[in-house]
Amino acid sequence: MNKKTIEDTLRFITMVADKQAWKVTSDVELLGILAEGLAKNFNRYGYFSCPCRLAEAVRDKDRDIICPCVYARPDIEEYGHCYCGLYLGQVFFDSGKLPESIPERRL
Ligand code: SF4
Repeated sequence: MNKKTIEDTLRFITMVADKQAWKVTSDVELLGILAEGLAKNFNRYGYFSCPCRLAEAVRDKDRDIICPCVYARPDIEEYGHCYCGLYLGQVFFDSGKLPESIPERRL
């Protein structure tokens, strides 16, 4: 398995945001932490498991939290950003507000 660098992961993050018409957080420190977490998870598990959640290390059990997780879209619609605050909706991004802690949608 090819290891992912932080740069690979940042490219992945940008690609996801472009594809989904989301914005990436402009908080550079948060972005660095999340990109590092995603890269570590990829290199550990073989997939981009959410950096804000505990993975089971079994792809089938973690399927819903592989970034972009299945909760990102409803969270962006309801709260303006995903659980980690990595991806933001356009309106939330334009507001200049900072992502806050939101309820965990995963049961
Ligand atoms: S909460 Fe955000 S960073 Fe975490 S998996 Fe979902 S989309 Fe990715």
